[in-house]
Amino acid sequence: MRQPQPDWLSERVSQDHVADYKPFVFVDGEGVRCSLYVSGCLFACEGCFNEAAWSFRYGQPYTPDLEDRIVADLGHESVQGLSLLGGEPFLNTNVCLRVVARMKAECGTTKDVWAWSGFTFEQLLQGSPDKVALLEQLDVLVDGPFTLAERDLTLAFRGSRNQRVLDVPASLRAGGAVAWSSCRTAVGRRVAP
Ligand code: SF4
Repeated sequence: MRQPQPDWLSERVSQDHVADYKPFVFVDGEGVRCSLYVSGCLFACEGCFNEAAWSFRYGQPYTPDLEDRIVADLGHESVQGLSLLGGEPFLNTNVCLRVVARMKAECGTTKDVWAWSGFTFEQLLQGSPDKVALLEQLDVLVDGPFTLAERDLTLAFRGSRNQRVLDVPASLRAGGAVAWSSCRTAVGRRVAP
């Protein structure tokens, strides 16, 4: 595994490509979700579930047409939110910030945003401005690299025990990682588990 530095700017490596887009999925976070898989990751975790997406040119360019489709899908009443996966979303912040901004402009606060990153919350908080900007848009972050020695297939939303599922607004308020522990019975309304 490599360790890209959190102050590396996304714009130096990203080609604004996406490996895949899947609407109406049930496995990439809570509820029904629209999942965008961006292309390019520098962590090179042993046992990575999506090695093909390590290349920043894998897949196809992110286009306005794809963005229109994603936002239209997100508008369905049954969809709880957007999931950003990779590749590494925080090395593709241009794409991720664009789609999140468009979603929030058209859906307001009715949808949530989850992201998966090889960086930890603490690294992102000290990272380049684009990383902090994306972090501030999230509701939930699944953080840390996949570690084969800590693989646990029974975990929800993550593949290894070192990874954490974090409540991002609560973590930002606290200035440190706060575990995600809420669930939603309806879009936009949080209740205790
Ligand atoms: S951070 Fe995620 S996408 Fe990147 S190599 Fe590790 S498991 Fe694969």
